[in-house]
Amino acid sequence: MEMISKFRDKDIVKRLLDNIYKESKADKIYNIMEVCGTHTMSVSRFGIRGLLPKNIRLISGPGCPVCVTAQGEIDMIFDLLKHNDVIVAVYGDLMKVPGSDGRNLLELKAEGKDIRVVISPLDVLKLKNEQKKDIVFVSIGFETTNPATAGLIDTIVSQNLNGFYVLMLNKTMPEIIDVLLDDNELDVDGFLCPGHVSVITGESLYLPIIKRDKAAVITGFEPVDILYSVLEIIRQINSKNFYIKNNYGRVVNSLGNEKANKLVDKYFELADSMWRGIGVIKNSGLKIRKQYKYLDASERFGLRPSDKSEIDGCKCGEVLKGKILPNMCGLFGLACSPENPVGPCMVSSEGACAAYYKYEI
Ligand code: SF4
Repeated sequence: MEMISKFRDKDIVKRLLDNIYKESKADKIYNIMEVCGTHTMSVSRFGIRGLLPKNIRLISGPGCPVCVTAQGEIDMIFDLLKHNDVIVAVYGDLMKVPGSDGRNLLELKAEGKDIRVVISPLDVLKLKNEQKKDIVFVSIGFETTNPATAGLIDTIVSQNLNGFYVLMLNKTMPEIIDVLLDDNELDVDGFLCPGHVSVITGESLYLPIIKRDKAAVITGFEPVDILYSVLEIIRQINSKNFYIKNNYGRVVNSLGNEKANKLVDKYFELADSMWRGIGVIKNSGLKIRKQYKYLDASERFGLRPSDKSEIDGCKCGEVLKGKILPNMCGLFGLACSPENPVGPCMVSSEGACAAYYKYEI
């Protein structure tokens, strides 16, 4: 607790804000993207946007894994549930995400479909399975969660367990960062780089950012972490001296987690992946290696993502690309709310629309 309070200390926050006001140039707009959904939540929760000078704009990016999962991939889960002999295990955030017919997993569960919420992939192994159905874990996430899914597969393989499958919808960061950097309409000067992802990847992931003369600062999730990193980005932009700064050294090692990366590499290989509102990005996802294909739920149940787009009126894709603020979507707070979400950005605990709805209106 004492550790956390240091990162929420009012005097330190005030000092950092004073420096940000002093060092930012009034005639310049600073566009800073937080790539990670947990940063987006923290920024809104602690009211950080409102504390900063108006010319420092914090823009949410494609860092919420549930939100970036394409509608066609979400529909694969609903297709899977057409098989009556499966138990589908998902993270809780997925339960309210609508399929393209507008219904969600909560409704299907109420109708008797066997859907279980798990906290970690290994919980799947403890599920009660009295009818001896096939159990499918729906894996959604970035580099942070890839090792845990690899750990599940490792256990299934090493213990020779039958009846377990993985629907692999995970995505990877480097390619989406390239897409953002190549987007001429997106005028971003610096990135608050995702702390959790960096624990696994290390720092080299962000080299393309500094090569394009933009700031890259790895940061934690407390107010002091975020403000200190915003100040660092302002300093890099003002001095035009760009380098990767690790402001989350208490958790992130510059080389990442070699053991976790080896485990991921053992079971997965890169594959093209479909992103909500963005489309297919080459090598931006993971698929199960050929050798372990027998565990791949998409093979076992013949599932393929359709090219369905977002539900009419939903602008999640634009929100994820940092093109609009959540409240610029015509459905925000009207047809779309956390109780009645139209898109995943309003459902997920890391979604930008959910963060805005909860803390910024
Ligand atoms: S407010 Fe709702 S419908 Fe609009 S972008 Fe956000 S999640 Fe999608």
